[in-house]
Amino acid sequence: MKQASKKELRARITALMPEIIEELKEMVAIPSVAFPAFPKEPVLAMAQRCVDAFARYGVKAELAEIPGGYPAVWAEIPGPKGAPTVLMYGHYDVQPAPPEQGWNTDPFVAVEEGGRIYGRGAADDKSGIVMHLATLAAFDGRPPVNVTVCLEGEEETISHLEAYVAANPERFQADAMLIGDMGNLVVGEPVLSTGLRGHVKAIIEVRTLTDPIHSGLFGGAAPDALMALIKALSRLTDDQGTCVVPGIAANEWDGAEFAEEMLRANAGVVDGAELIGSGSISSRLWSKPSISVLGIDAPSVAEGANVLQPSARALVAMRIPPGQDPEDAMTKLTGFLREQVPGSAQVTITPDKKSPAFAQGTDGPAVTRMRTALEAAYGKEVKTIGSGGSIPLLDELRKACPSADFVLIGAEDMQKARIHGPNESVDPTEIENMALAQALLLQMLAAGKE
Ligand SMILES: [Zn+2]
Repeated sequence: MKQASKKELRARITALMPEIIEELKEMVAIPSVAFPAFPKEPVLAMAQRCVDAFARYGVKAELAEIPGGYPAVWAEIPGPKGAPTVLMYGHYDVQPAPPEQGWNTDPFVAVEEGGRIYGRGAADDKSGIVMHLATLAAFDGRPPVNVTVCLEGEEETISHLEAYVAANPERFQADAMLIGDMGNLVVGEPVLSTGLRGHVKAIIEVRTLTDPIHSGLFGGAAPDALMALIKALSRLTDDQGTCVVPGIAANEWDGAEFAEEMLRANAGVVDGAELIGSGSISSRLWSKPSISVLGIDAPSVAEGANVLQPSARALVAMRIPPGQDPEDAMTKLTGFLREQVPGSAQVTITPDKKSPAFAQGTDGPAVTRMRTALEAAYGKEVKTIGSGGSIPLLDELRKACPSADFVLIGAEDMQKARIHGPNESVDPTEIENMALAQALLLQMLAAGKE
């Protein structure tokens, strides 16, 4: 098959953009929140909208039943004989957008302002859906490789797709997985994500007394469980906030730098508050462990009586970098935590959830080609980033198809997209450039050349 030049593909995608953006706006108008307490109709309407949108560009998609959950939008497009297979992933459900988040406009009415499109899901991940759509539309629905499209309906809530992947690995065989639910740090500057941190959580309960007792009669001599717990928790990090659990992998990040101002703005760090941790911000976020206390069971301030607490518990979470085994991390975290409780109190530590880190090498065949494709689409050097969060589905996909290369990309720029927050938005040029990079990648995979 004759390959289109970059110029031709760019021209096709640029010509498609007005209708692609129109489609995105229509999709934003469907409040497809898949959380259990939310109505089902909009989620199902959104799934159908995806099927119809792909049909308009010559791709026959259908709803694949996912046991226990919302259907996935599924399409299998056969390419030329012997061509490699690419799986394109995105998700059509969105986070809720309650008014108390402080939206400037109706989250489910797409609004264009200052070159960006605002609305819940405009970036996460309806931009990913239309990005895949634009790539396939550039080939009139007949891409030069075999393509499987899988759009999940429950990424933001309890996903049933993971179990489906485990039960049906044959449906997820591909040479490359295009995970279109990420983004560049800054608009116009392409990045590839090569790793995601994993996560281990444990519950610690400290008991020092059989019953609550008067804090005046006994305070100062009888041990207070809440104080003992707080002491133990405080010893998990040093004064700078760096995790001090021994033996957990920690590396300096050698890819892109994460600007301090951007972190402060995105995280909403209040004036005067210092950042925690040490080393480059990239390494603190992507290649070193971090420790947080996610919850404490203790009396609230309003309920606080003059009483010493006999017991108290906390949920402790540690993010672990790629290369760190979660089982080993759990053993080290729980062992270290136990030793930090002062005064031989009774301590119960219960391991909670754990999810592995995800690493994708930079030298895989699809990743190296995507680097070239992104460079061509953006006209800029590609930097390597990580991700502080974890996506358990990726691990399941890797188990189903260990040989696949994972390409983690998307139009959700870190600087301005504000996914999950108020006034979420997307820059259409990111959708266009990413769609072009994907189209170039498909051609390169078809040709088999670097
Ligand atoms: Zn997402």
